[in-house]
Amino acid sequence: ALQCGIVGLPNVGKSTLFNSLSNAKAQAANFPFCTIDPNVGVITVPDERLVRLAAIDKPKRIIPTTIEIVDIAGLVKGASKGEGLGNKFLGNIRTTDAIIHVLRCFDDSNVTHVDGSVNPVRDKEIIDTELQLKDLETVESRIGKVQKQAQTGGDKVAKRWYDLLVQYREALVQGKSARTVVLENKEDEKMMAELCLLTNKPVLYVCNVDEASAVTGNEYTEAVMEAVKDENAQVLVVAAAIEADIAELESYEERQMFLADIGLEESGVSRLIRAAYALLNLETYFTTGEQETRAWTYPKGTKAPQAAGVIHSDFERGFIRAEVIKYDDYIALGSESACREAGKLSVEGKEYVVQDGDIMHFRFNV
Ligand code: GDP
Repeated sequence: ALQCGIVGLPNVGKSTLFNSLSNAKAQAANFPFCTIDPNVGVITVPDERLVRLAAIDKPKRIIPTTIEIVDIAGLVKGASKGEGLGNKFLGNIRTTDAIIHVLRCFDDSNVTHVDGSVNPVRDKEIIDTELQLKDLETVESRIGKVQKQAQTGGDKVAKRWYDLLVQYREALVQGKSARTVVLENKEDEKMMAELCLLTNKPVLYVCNVDEASAVTGNEYTEAVMEAVKDENAQVLVVAAAIEADIAELESYEERQMFLADIGLEESGVSRLIRAAYALLNLETYFTTGEQETRAWTYPKGTKAPQAAGVIHSDFERGFIRAEVIKYDDYIALGSESACREAGKLSVEGKEYVVQDGDIMHFRFNV
């Protein structure tokens, strides 16, 4: 499963956020939240469409899709040089697919700030610098390995690596993240993906605010937005401490009332999960019937056979065709047979690129 890592300086609210995400299980009571280890949680992705499909088909089971979230504690200034348990934590980030960067945007004299004052922009730079330094180390070590072949022999692959790596080194030395380097071709992108650079992973920022700023944001969140405006990254304003309270409420109605009191329509946790899902470049298709209505995750751009393979590898191997109904048509017409009669069921082959919200029925040989 794809994984998002939560990073940030100590005491910014990472664990609080992680815990409220973990408690979001209440949002899909039929799907147990499970903890893989204390810092990794499997989180269900809230999806209104699943609820509406289930209202039509009244299945025995409703199964949402999930992503994994990892709480990566312990990043501090000097982590790249092995301060604290720095290197271990940086290693934990390497295996994640995307990063949720939490920034402290609340005042509270009871909560110590590791750098003495609340300043989310500075905090962000501290973390970025550590990640960039680690990446620089990775890039330089790789340069060391290919340099000779690239410069003396006629080794084309080594030469290509070398040219690529030098571009990245240049950006990193200037204090820029690897993701700011724009590559022209997919092959190069693939090569770089192999390196798993920390600052090449997609990122979104969570401004952790107090309750009073949950709707409007505050001067800190504005400073963050200004600082990251060229990054093309999403910035979410979330009040982690109250999200934890919300997540503990038993019923959907209670949670909605609590949110309405604060002036929010949707919990920050739900917004964050959906944003993380998009950040991972994931989309959802559905299968639905009497037995179950279920959401399935696939990377954007996946073709029908590989999407079928998400359900079972036999579906991919024996793929014959897919019958596809668009979500809106299914909701409007109310059943597969009605869609078929209305000509709203299309038969697609191996080259079909699955679209977010498609209701799929795969035909395959066993
Ligand atoms: P971490 O070190 O980043 O994981 O931070 P924690 O989640 O452990 O939070 C550090 C402290 O800040 C805890 O005492 C939290 O209760 C408190 N805290 C977290 N979020 C908020 C917030 O939005 N407002 C206030 N006032 N305190 C918070």
